[in-house]
Amino acid sequence: MKVIVAIKRVVDFNVKVRVNPNGSGVNLANVKMSMNPFDEIAVEEALRFKEAGIATEVIAVTCGLAVCQETLRTAMALGADRAILVETAVELQPLAVAKLIKAVADKEQPQLVFFGKQAIDDDANQTGQMFAALMGWPQATFASKVVKVGEKLQVMREIDGGLEMLEMKLPAVVTADLRLNEPRYVTLPNIMKAKKKPLEMMTPAVLGVDVAPRLATLNVIEPPTRSAGVMVANVKALIEKLKNEAKVI
Ligand code: AMP
Repeated sequence: MKVIVAIKRVVDFNVKVRVNPNGSGVNLANVKMSMNPFDEIAVEEALRFKEAGIATEVIAVTCGLAVCQETLRTAMALGADRAILVETAVELQPLAVAKLIKAVADKEQPQLVFFGKQAIDDDANQTGQMFAALMGWPQATFASKVVKVGEKLQVMREIDGGLEMLEMKLPAVVTADLRLNEPRYVTLPNIMKAKKKPLEMMTPAVLGVDVAPRLATLNVIEPPTRSAGVMVANVKALIEKLKNEAKVI
């Protein structure tokens, strides 16, 4: 079966982001960008499906600027067979991405589409769910284990109270959580090999998808800086401060 993995290029998780002075968003100039960490886990899971003989082909798909080709090359260096970039300069919101991936899935007819559980830049946690709804496919989000049993998929989900096991028919959508697996590293020979793998470019217009934003960002602000703590002499002084200064007890 064919497997698609949706990957997003985001600000690297090690970068301390800075807000633009005019509050329009986060400053992306000269900032290191990487594959969204949850998408690395999604790619790894798809590759394990291929290595287990379950998946026949793994296709990495991303939507965004032309530079996102780098992220797709990384996915192919990890082991994806080919890649598709839906190129656009429009700042994409989850619904637009879900529609674009749907258009790609309608062409490619995969049996399984992996997403990351959320992108660490917008923290939306929406795209996989919206895609599943648009396709009318079952979905298992926050997956920590995925097993194919016959023609069905059994997925362990991380939920507030513990773990939940779901079974669903294919075609289906799975969004990857942190503990699903430990992604492999990219090796130099595989980076070289990935340069020769096919990378197809398309546009939202060719796919017939309107990607115009539906939401407007009004203002982005830094979190307030924490004020310095104080040392208190004893428990009595602490209680006194909590009662009369912080007024929390
Ligand atoms: P979000 O709903 O924005 O938190 O993103 C959830 C997941 O959707 C990500 O982990 C990716 O798998 C996928 N995704 C989000 N944005 C894009 C994009 N521009 N291109 C491809 N996949 C995306």
